[in-house]
Amino acid sequence: MNMDMFERISEHQQVLFCNDQATGLKAIIAIHNTTLGPALGGCRMQPYESVDAALEDVLRLSKGMTYKCAAADVDFGGGKAVIIGDPAKDKNPELFRAFGQFVESLNGRFYTGTDMGTTPGDFVHALKETNCIVGVEEEYGGSGDSSVPTALGVIYGVKATNQAVWGTSDLGDKTYAIQGLGKVGAKVAEHLLQEGANLYVTDISQSAIDDVLSKAKQYNGFVKVVNDKEIYSVDADVFVPCAFGGVINDETIEQLKVRAVAGSANNQLLDIHHGKILQEKGILYAPDYIVNAGGLIQVADELYEPNKARVLRKTKAIYTSLLDVFQESMNSGICTVEASNLLCERRIESRSQRNSFFSHMKRPKWAVRN
Ligand code: NAD
Repeated sequence: MNMDMFERISEHQQVLFCNDQATGLKAIIAIHNTTLGPALGGCRMQPYESVDAALEDVLRLSKGMTYKCAAADVDFGGGKAVIIGDPAKDKNPELFRAFGQFVESLNGRFYTGTDMGTTPGDFVHALKETNCIVGVEEEYGGSGDSSVPTALGVIYGVKATNQAVWGTSDLGDKTYAIQGLGKVGAKVAEHLLQEGANLYVTDISQSAIDDVLSKAKQYNGFVKVVNDKEIYSVDADVFVPCAFGGVINDETIEQLKVRAVAGSANNQLLDIHHGKILQEKGILYAPDYIVNAGGLIQVADELYEPNKARVLRKTKAIYTSLLDVFQESMNSGICTVEASNLLCERRIESRSQRNSFFSHMKRPKWAVRN
C-alpha cells in the first residue's frame, strides 16, 4: 500500500476531496486539529495550476487556522477549504450549493465562509444546504463586514507593539508606513490619523489613496504617498502591512528602517527564519495571526448567541496576547513568531486532556430566500 499521501497529511485529521459532476465543483476541505472545537476556516477559490498545489495550500492554511484560533482563544480548531477554479469565470449558485452539501456532510466538524476569491454572497447559496456557514451579511443571519473588527484588532496590536518598544501604547506621536489601503488598511489609517499620527502610505489603487488623502484633510493629518517599492525604506517607526503576504523577506528586511512590524496581512514572513532576522536587527515583529484575528473572533462568535460586547472584549484582548508573546520571546530568547506558536501549542496541549462536546454549537438553519 502506498502511504505517501498519509505521510503528507500526517499532521491533519481529515482531508475531504469534493467532486460534483453536475456543477464541475472540485474542492478540498482540510481539517487540521479539532482539539479546541470544530474546525473553522474560510474557503478560497483560485485557479490552482494543479491539484497538488491546491492540496499544499489547503494543508498549510488549515494548520495556520489551528494556531490562529488558539491564539484568539476561541473554541474552534483549524480547517480550511479550497475550490479549484477561476472566481471570475467559474462561479455559479449551484456550485456553491454543491459545496454546501459537502460541508453539511461533515455534520458540524467544519464551519466556513469567505476567503480570497469568494464573497459573502457566494455563501448565501451554500447556506441553503448547510448551517455551517459564517460571515454572510446580517440579513442572512451573519455578522457582516469582518474588516471592522480586524482593523480594530490591528489598532490594539499596534498599541501593544508600541508599548513593548517605546514603553507607551500611545499611537499619536509616531510615523507609520501602511502598505495597502483596502478594507482593513483604510480603517487603520483613519484611526491613526484621528490619533494624530503621521503616515506614509502606498496602494496600487488611486481611489484607495484618494480616500485616505481626504481623511487626512478631515483630521488635518500628515500623509505622504509613496510608490509600492519605496514603502519598505521610508523613515517610519512602524511598518503596517495590510495588502499581501511574504512582504518580510531577504530583500525587504535590508531596507526596513522601522523599529516594529504590525499589520493585518496574512503570512507576512516569507519564511519563519525571517522572524529571526527581524529579531537580530532589533525590529519587533507582532505575529500576523494574532494581530489580524478580529474578523475570526467575530465569525466565531456568530456560532454562539451573537454578542457585540464579547467580540469587542476579545478583540481588545489582542493587546494582552501580544504582550504575553513579547514577554515569552524575551524570556526564552526565541523570536516572537516561535514564542507565539509555542504558547498556542501549550494551550492546545492543555485542552487535549479534556473531552469536549461541541455539537450544541450547530445553529438552526437560516431560512434563506433569494
Ligand atoms: P483588500 O483587498 O480590501 O485590500 C488590499 C489592498 O491592498 C487593496 O486596496 C489593494 O489595492 C492593495 N494592494 C494590492 N497590491 C498592492 C501592492 N503591490 N502595493 C500596495 N497595495 C497593494 O483586503 P483587506 O480585506 O483589506 O485585507 C488586507 C490584508 O489583511 C490581506 O492580506 C488579508 O488576507 C488580511 N486579512 C484581512 C481580514 C479581513 O477581515 N478583511 C482578516 C484577516 C486578514
